[in-house]
Amino acid sequence: MGTPTAARTTRPFHRRALAALAVGTAAALALGAVPATAAPDRDRPQRGGPPPVGHDLPKVPVMTGSGGAVASVDPVASQVGIDVLAAGGNATDAAVATAAALGVTEPYSTGIGGGGFFVHYDASSGRVDTVDGRETAPMSYDETAFLDADGDPLPFRTAVNSGLSVGVPGNPATWQRAVDRWGSERLRDLLKPAERLARNGFVVDQTFHDQTVANADRFSMFPETAVVFLPGGQAPAVGSVFRNPDLSAAYREIRTHGVESLYDGRLARAVVAEIQDPTTAPGVEVPAGELTRADLARYEALDRAPVHSRYRGRDVYGMPVPSSGGIAVAEILNLVEAYDERTGTPTSEVDQVQYLHRFSEASATAFADRNRYVGDVPGVPTGELVSQGFADERSCLFDPAAAMPRPVPFGSPDGSYADCGDARASGILPHEGMSTTHLSVVDRWGNAVSYTSTIEQTGGSAITVPGWGFILNNELTDFDFVPLTPGVPDPNLPGPGKRPRSSMSPTVVVGADGLELVAGSPGGSTIITTTAQILLGVYERDLSVGDAVAAPRLSSRNGSTESAEPAIAGSPVGAGLTALGHRLSSTPEIGAATAIRVLGPDRYTAAAEPVRRGGGSAMVVVPDAG
Ligand code: GLU
Repeated sequence: MGTPTAARTTRPFHRRALAALAVGTAAALALGAVPATAAPDRDRPQRGGPPPVGHDLPKVPVMTGSGGAVASVDPVASQVGIDVLAAGGNATDAAVATAAALGVTEPYSTGIGGGGFFVHYDASSGRVDTVDGRETAPMSYDETAFLDADGDPLPFRTAVNSGLSVGVPGNPATWQRAVDRWGSERLRDLLKPAERLARNGFVVDQTFHDQTVANADRFSMFPETAVVFLPGGQAPAVGSVFRNPDLSAAYREIRTHGVESLYDGRLARAVVAEIQDPTTAPGVEVPAGELTRADLARYEALDRAPVHSRYRGRDVYGMPVPSSGGIAVAEILNLVEAYDERTGTPTSEVDQVQYLHRFSEASATAFADRNRYVGDVPGVPTGELVSQGFADERSCLFDPAAAMPRPVPFGSPDGSYADCGDARASGILPHEGMSTTHLSVVDRWGNAVSYTSTIEQTGGSAITVPGWGFILNNELTDFDFVPLTPGVPDPNLPGPGKRPRSSMSPTVVVGADGLELVAGSPGGSTIITTTAQILLGVYERDLSVGDAVAAPRLSSRNGSTESAEPAIAGSPVGAGLTALGHRLSSTPEIGAATAIRVLGPDRYTAAAEPVRRGGGSAMVVVPDAG
């Protein structure tokens, strides 16, 4: 493709009457699964209009019980999933209904306009399968898609807030594919709660308010987005009711006409029109996109075999290419095992400084390798990258007394492993956003879903599809605009129909007795380290799943510094890591994970964040008494 100089627009915007906000039937969420005592400080709805959905649900970060479990970042969305399970639905049914509800309450993180990765565990066969719902680039793209007329990379912000960054959304196709393969209910029924939630509204919490404020400038560039998400020109106040009747109409459209509407129908026409000619505020110009009706029509959510590796006698399953999540998590875990051998001291027995040192070194090494080898290209050496032999070879760089110099060089996953192999220096860190959302579900039969979905950065491209209330992703900015390391092949350059590399790491761990753990997180490239750290917390530090999710996080991604939450950065442990040569950069919070631990037949602990991103919501169908 040529340089993206195509249509720029300042097309006048027609403001629709906000007075026409639809009012619908009252909320009908079943509340039986949550303790009778609602959190006293929970924000209450404004007066007038129908009651918002689930306004009195408490946020509970850890819950143990039976009958199935759901963990997400939002209590209304978790409750939607619990209602599905309680009514006899299975894990896939609940996951799809929860994901659609998150598209309403977390519209800056996921929804109809985004994509994701869906990992499914089937209890009766023990089989794990995945659906790849990653967004795709237009067929017109090539390696120059994000270069300007001089061959220089476009400013990142310019690319984000434009039609150029929008890939074909994959979430609706994922929902349909998952329901077709494993669901027991019809998609049109599973989307009902989301349609109602968008119509009746939800109570704005601090996180939603803050995310809106943080994106207000971007949202103001696109009048349609401003009308929906900045009503009256303001971020909705904490405690007010936020309704999105357009989004309700979009769910109704999909319920009525199927997901085909998005790929070859009314929604498709609306999406393409807006990408090719974005409606902007007066004086604002943004690059138009190139996505066509044909690009949408050829989209498929793909069945893919999971990445499989062994760790401490267990089977770990994750997402394959185009995500790097499954590969990188597996390599981190393999390296930690290799360090045991190399040092003669099990990681489960070392102190906290040495534990985090090992975790950091393993993470930096895995990032060097994924940056070099993983992208949506043929021939990614997945089997070698997740092999213990490769990790054993790569562990030769490890020194218990000192951090490896960054950047750690990448290795040679060539199947022949001896000592250090021929490692070569790797370059800069790729950019990735810090948004997204992860949900975990287990049903009473022991089937499970680990599903991470996203519109890339918080607020995506900031382009809302006129009349339909959902924001389009900016996922294509996950491509490298130029090769990361000059002279080294980069598998993550843009290309026709290509899927940008992801870090999303929906993970399932299966032991001798079956399913043990479901986990995942948002957070751009920190997703990989957060997910790995939760697994290591459970299996190396003997933490409960709730404590493993809550534990302070470190994220080492082969840059010159590594992100550390204040509880690490400002602590004696942080000082110990610094003494080993780690350069910590204090970061307020990393990730917003959810996980579920299976405790026995039909017994689970669901876990969400107690604090990060305002706290998440873990629920089981029948909570333990007391
Ligand atoms: N686009 C990122 C990825 O696929 C996720 C974005 C985020 O978590 O903020 O890895």
